[in-house]
Amino acid sequence: MDSTRLREVYEDLHRHPELSFQERRTAGVAAGRLRENAYEVIEGLGGTGVAGVLRRGSGPTVWLRADMDALPVTEQTGLPYASVVDGVSHACGHDMHVTCLMGAAAELAAADDWQGTVVAIFQPAEELAKGAQAMVDDGLAERVPRADIVLGQHVAPLPAGSIGLTPGPMWAASDSLRVTIHGRGGHGSRPETTVDPVVIAAATVLRLQTIVAREISTTETAVVTVGAVHAGTKHNIIPDAATLLLNVRTYDSKVRDRVLAAIRRIVHAEAAAAGAPCDPTVVIEESTPTLTNDVDAAERTRPALESVGPVFDPGPLPSSEDVQVLATATGAPITYWLMGGADPSLYAGATTAEQLIEVAGTIPSNHSPHYHPIPDPTIRAGVAALVAAARAWLR
Ligand SMILES: [Zn+2]
Ligand SMILES: [Zn+2]
Repeated sequence: MDSTRLREVYEDLHRHPELSFQERRTAGVAAGRLRENAYEVIEGLGGTGVAGVLRRGSGPTVWLRADMDALPVTEQTGLPYASVVDGVSHACGHDMHVTCLMGAAAELAAADDWQGTVVAIFQPAEELAKGAQAMVDDGLAERVPRADIVLGQHVAPLPAGSIGLTPGPMWAASDSLRVTIHGRGGHGSRPETTVDPVVIAAATVLRLQTIVAREISTTETAVVTVGAVHAGTKHNIIPDAATLLLNVRTYDSKVRDRVLAAIRRIVHAEAAAAGAPCDPTVVIEESTPTLTNDVDAAERTRPALESVGPVFDPGPLPSSEDVQVLATATGAPITYWLMGGADPSLYAGATTAEQLIEVAGTIPSNHSPHYHPIPDPTIRAGVAALVAAARAWLR
């Protein structure tokens, strides 16, 4: 696909964003282009997911992944190709991921100097951290050839043409928990006849702060946030129950296990200390694993990425992504990188990773109603990065 056509594809996708698990039009566009390029196409994987398979004799299998969903954000970019869908826009730039993967799939199909298998995966619902699992639950790993490597990229507020690659843990695991504390309600004037869940909740919230402060080593990282506390209806009624909504971020699975165990221990112990009539419940409502770049795979892929643009290491970031679920399902290492999408002139004078990250903090970033990557040279660099990285693994 030539660059003019890719630019048209990008603007069309940007105009027509679709929320998580509703990416029917986007999936149709991706599937159509894959068929044009002689890929075998499976549609409807995990709802709206698409997988295209291109076999070229014996050799390694490379999975290339793009997520497709948009966000419930009203676009304020003023672009001529801004979203025409009320209250929905591509504020995370997934339309860029889809465009670049379509371009890379076409470029690999047009080349005859490689052997192996390319699997192009267009994934739904990354923003809910549920789309990768939905594709896996629908048999993705069995319905396409097993991967030797999973490759993917996310557009970011970094200079267009530059690439951020962090070997090892890159993005944090995220767990969202619902804690329900059961007390015994009654009249506010007679607390001695009740077990007050509001007091248990307050004690629990405070003691949860000791997990990171007292149980996690200085060399490890974790965040425990209580994002919501709900209990009661009126001044003089002691309620029956209280609910806490928690979010946990970690990079290491052992740290994650320790934090989750500490939360359960504290929640149960505070309820027991107050003489609660029954045990609290702790339910993990959403879970995204750590995105960990395989160190050897990152080193093997790095020269290919360096052939596209400058590569720097932004270090671990607290963002989360569900692409790791695909790699785990197929038993392959992953190399995932950040692709710059911002006007390079905004970064004049910034050269080190620290300086680039500092400037990135001053311009609209993903999920902002003002966020938008510049199509040129972002599309060109994004296609080139996927193709070069795939070639580093194909025969
Ligand atoms: Zn996002
Ligand atoms: Zn995203």
